[in-house]
This record gives sequence, C-alpha cells and structure tokens, in this order.
Amino acid sequence: MKAVIVTVGTELLFGQTVDTNAVYLSQQLQLLGIDVMYRHTVGDNPGRIRRILDLSYEDCDLVITTGGLGPTQDDITKEIVTEALGDALAVHDETEQAIRGFFAKAKRPMTENNLRQAMLPTRADVFANRHGTAPGFALETDGRIAICLPGPPREMKPMFEECAAPYLRARCGGTIHYRMVRTFGIGESALEAAISDLISAQTDPTLATYAKDGECSIRVASKRADEAEARQAVCSMLETLHGRIGEYIFSDDNEELAAVVGKRLIERNISVSCAESCTGGMFAQSLTGTPGISAVFDRGFVTYSNAAKAEELGVSPAVIEEHGAVSRETALAMARGALSASGSRLAISATGIAGPGGGTEEKPVGLVYMACIFDGKEMCESIRARNNGRSWIRSYAVLHMLSMILRAIEDADS
Ligand code: AMP
Ligand code: MG
Repeated sequence: MKAVIVTVGTELLFGQTVDTNAVYLSQQLQLLGIDVMYRHTVGDNPGRIRRILDLSYEDCDLVITTGGLGPTQDDITKEIVTEALGDALAVHDETEQAIRGFFAKAKRPMTENNLRQAMLPTRADVFANRHGTAPGFALETDGRIAICLPGPPREMKPMFEECAAPYLRARCGGTIHYRMVRTFGIGESALEAAISDLISAQTDPTLATYAKDGECSIRVASKRADEAEARQAVCSMLETLHGRIGEYIFSDDNEELAAVVGKRLIERNISVSCAESCTGGMFAQSLTGTPGISAVFDRGFVTYSNAAKAEELGVSPAVIEEHGAVSRETALAMARGALSASGSRLAISATGIAGPGGGTEEKPVGLVYMACIFDGKEMCESIRARNNGRSWIRSYAVLHMLSMILRAIEDADS
C-alpha cells in the first residue's frame, strides 16, 4: 500500500503550529509496513485540498489527513474528501448522541455548528473520538482509501492507534517485525562498509543504518505473511550482525546506552562512582536516569578547578603541573581518587577540552581523557571528538565513558 500524508491547516503553513502529526504518522505507517510516498501540508482551502487529493490518488492508494474536522467554517476536510471519493454526508446518529452527551457531561452549551461534526460520509467506517468531539473516519471507493483524523495530537494519536491502525492492518496483509540495533564506537561509513554486502543483497529482512548523536543504529525489518516467520528472519539477521560487528552493539532492542550500562551495573551489583571535569555532572545525570540505580551508584564528583581535583580527589598538583589537567595522568588520578573516597568497585573519570576556546595544536578542542578502574584493573582512553560544538563534545564523552564501563565489565567476564 502506498500512502500520502496530508496535514491540513493554515496555521501549519504560517509556522504557528509545528507539524508533529506528519512525523508521527510517518513513523506509525512505517511500523505497519506501509510506504509513505509523499507528505503535503495544505491550508484550509477547498480547491487546494481537492487538488492534493486528486494528485495523491494518481499513484497512491491511501491518503491520511489530519486537521479540518472541527465544527468551524474553516474545517472542510471531511466535505472535500467525501466529494473526492464520490460519497455524500448524512447525519450519523451515534455520533450525534455522543456529541450531545459530551456537552451535557461537560455542562457546556452546545452550539448548532457542533452538530456539523455528526455529518459523516454514508459509507464511512466511523472512528469515535475519546478525547474530543470530532470523529474521524475511513472511506474507501474503488481501491482508494481516505482516512481522516482530527488535528489535535492528543485526539489524533489514540484514534490512529485504536481505530486507523487496526483498519489498515486488516487491509495490508502481512506483519512487519523490526528491531533497532544500536552501536557505539564505529562510524556510519565504517559500519556500512562492514555490512555493505548484507545491505546490497537485502530483500527481506531489510537493513537501514542511521547515525545520530555519535551513535549508529541499524534497523532490521522483516515483512512476512506470518508473524513468527518475520521474527525468525529478524533474529537470524541479528545473529549475522553480531558475528560481524558484535563488539560495537550495545542493544538489539533500541535501548539507550546509559540504560544498558545502568541495568548491567545493577544486575552485577557493581558499586560505581564518578569524577567529572569537562562533562560537569552529565555522566552522573545520564546514569541516574536508570530506575533502581541507587542500589549501586554511590557518588559523583564534579571537580572543575585544579584545586577541586586536589582537594576532593587527592590529585597531586605536581601531576597537573607536569602533564596538564587534560591528560592521561590526571584522568587516572581522578578515577583513583574517586575510588578511594567512595570505596566503590568501579570508578570512571573524564577530563577534556569542550571548547570553543582552550584548544591548542597539541591538545585540541574535543580531546578528552577518560579512565575507568574496575576491581583494581585500570584502563585509560582518549578520544578526539569531532568539534561539533561544546554540547556535542560533552555528550559524546559521556557515551564513551558509558561504553568504557560496559567493556570493563565484559573484559572482567572473559
Ligand atoms: P483542526 O482540527 O484543524 O481544527 O486543528 C485543531 C488544532 O490541532 C490546531 O489548532 C493545532 O493546534 C493542532 N494541529 C492541527 N494540525 C496539526 C499538526 N499537523 N501537527 C500538530 N498539531 C496540529
Ligand atoms: Mg484547522
């Protein structure tokens, strides 16, 4: 099934309202295995709405609209769609009762124009609105399907999930099963090179890579008549991926790196502390997003100045003097200091140059040293994060700290 998403509303064209409906519907249709070929936004104008509908049905069979179903003069989507698909509007009794009930319950006076919303195409599958008064509907004529949903996202989304999605599932046959594989530590081009033969040979399951915020994800999707078959196909592709790039994969199921690390620490009952300079508490913030982390997270030090590093963590001023605050030696001394102050089994530290100033040829912006000590075993790594701005560098450093913890635990296991 080929689909077009049409978001209706002059406010969208003005930029007053951000068109979140289109993004949401794209994502939902993708999950149903329905290809979205176009997205249009059109104002509350009958001629232009009609043109977009006619254009859409030239090469697509499904149009989903949002907006323009309300009671006011400019809400005309329903009229135009009904006309385009050769049907007529008539009072839908159940909807009329529901609208009267809605106003009675809210103790608000109902105006006659509210009853306009009870006028629906005679052949429509009507979708009740649990969060408002405007119902939605699906209408099919000669293989052309229109689904009209209300504009407000809090009405549109539940209606899509509860009514439109089952309607579509019954018509498109087959189910789609997918997994989002998340990786860290490998760039998108290197990732693609490692699996390029799989990508070019793909029919089902399909593979798609996405880079986002320093991570790369691979979407593995299978569409089969049978759900179990689709699962099986995705599963065996996951095995292949683990064989190729397993060391970079931290989740097969779209989890955040911090959540994976938090869970692992809790499962293994590994107490943890951190000493942060350039990340300024972002690591602690990120790790403590995991529910239940209080069982293992002991404390975090934010030691920005040299004095703080000395006072809180016992970093020797001589080490900083000799090697600099941004150095392997300082990172290690910070982690050791956090370890002895807390008595944790694992400590992690970071010290780096987040920019935009402060970089030198030898120590450029984006250089971050990180040390991780776990059960006495020390590791220290440096990264040169791309200079995509201060906030990017700091977030990237946090991801790297998390990945170091994961690797430290895995090393200890093997
Ligand atoms: P309507 O059903 O056209 O009267 O839309 C009612 C309200 O829903 C608008 O005032 C917006 O606040 C919201 N809305 C409409 N279309 C969208 C959209 N595409 N994305 C996000 N919000 C929307
Ligand atoms: Mg509108």
